[in-house]
Amino acid sequence: MAQTLRLNPNVAELPPYNAGMNIAVARSKTGLADIAALASNENPYGCSPKVTAALASLDPSRYADPTCVGLRDALSRRLSVAGNRIVIGNGSEEMIAAVCRAVLRPFATVVAMTPGFGLHEIEPRANGAKIVKVPMTNDLRFDVEAMAMALQKKPSIFFISSPSNPVGPALEQSQLSRLIAAVPRETLLVFDEAYFEFRDENTPDGLEILAESAISYVVLRTFSKAYGLAGLRVGYAVASDERLARAMSSAKTPFNVNAAAQLAAVAALDDENWMRNSVASVVKERERMAGEITALGFFVPESQTNFLFIDVGCDSSIAFEHLLSHGVIVKPWKEQGFASFIRVTVGLPTENDRFLDALRLLKDKLSEAKVAS
Ligand SMILES: *Cc1c(COP(=O)(O)O)cnc(C)c1O
Repeated sequence: MAQTLRLNPNVAELPPYNAGMNIAVARSKTGLADIAALASNENPYGCSPKVTAALASLDPSRYADPTCVGLRDALSRRLSVAGNRIVIGNGSEEMIAAVCRAVLRPFATVVAMTPGFGLHEIEPRANGAKIVKVPMTNDLRFDVEAMAMALQKKPSIFFISSPSNPVGPALEQSQLSRLIAAVPRETLLVFDEAYFEFRDENTPDGLEILAESAISYVVLRTFSKAYGLAGLRVGYAVASDERLARAMSSAKTPFNVNAAAQLAAVAALDDENWMRNSVASVVKERERMAGEITALGFFVPESQTNFLFIDVGCDSSIAFEHLLSHGVIVKPWKEQGFASFIRVTVGLPTENDRFLDALRLLKDKLSEAKVAS
């Protein structure tokens, strides 16, 4: 009987989201108690003590504010954007789904990057859209001319993360201006700034630049990465206008952001210092790791995030298993053309050392295998 039930093929045939391995699963698989979880771009320093203090006032018996007024007010002041253009999500992930539901009609086309963030493809496809992928250059830089070409077809949405997940670079000012000039009136630009806080000094603030343009846009940011609140699920969208923000609000469930997440995000915003200090430590470690990985002979594109994308020169699942056996979880990349890459999150210095030691052993193993064959 169950076999005769007709499913929505847009959803039933979706590729799985490539989530990082959970720490408990890694412990039981390896028998190791001490695991360095470097697959999901979390903050290795945890979160601000102000967050933990704020959570003490949580009342789990009451519904949370469905409009997230406190958090939207705080963001509105911080970003100098009207509160009615801000939509809070159960992670910025939920805002990727909401923007698709709000904008996409049957048989729409969506443009996304490759390599790129899985949900920029999964959510449009769940809504019945056709996906067109724009590649980066061979040395994994942004190819703005290729983006402009794809935009000539007037897709409904163009998704891009800058700084890029999984690669790492961010669009420079001139590249962003060129991209904005290429966005047709019919297209919504979704500019995913999940790694905004880790970017270089000279990299523009996407929201500031887009605010001066006449295009339709949504900027996405999150408390999961720099602010260390991944487990609570809270992120937000800033829309170019109130009408779009209202449609995105209608496209989500009413109590999408729980009470703990709202309290925590307000407290986290109030401790910018803690965030900046942890970002500075991560950036310093990122540069140390990139130097050592390059010295080992692996290709690592420039990164303005809290992770590195590394061509390990073998099937990424082999590298994943090797690193796991040394107590390190990374994310093996699976996208077509990039299956020899792993993505590693910058962790605590001791975790990064463990990763670098295990990577050195992998290099030795690979060169022995080459000599033998
Ligand atoms: C991590 C990430 C997100 C989602 O983060 P949330 O935890 O859902 O806020 C969105 N986009 C990119 C590119 C990411 O890397």
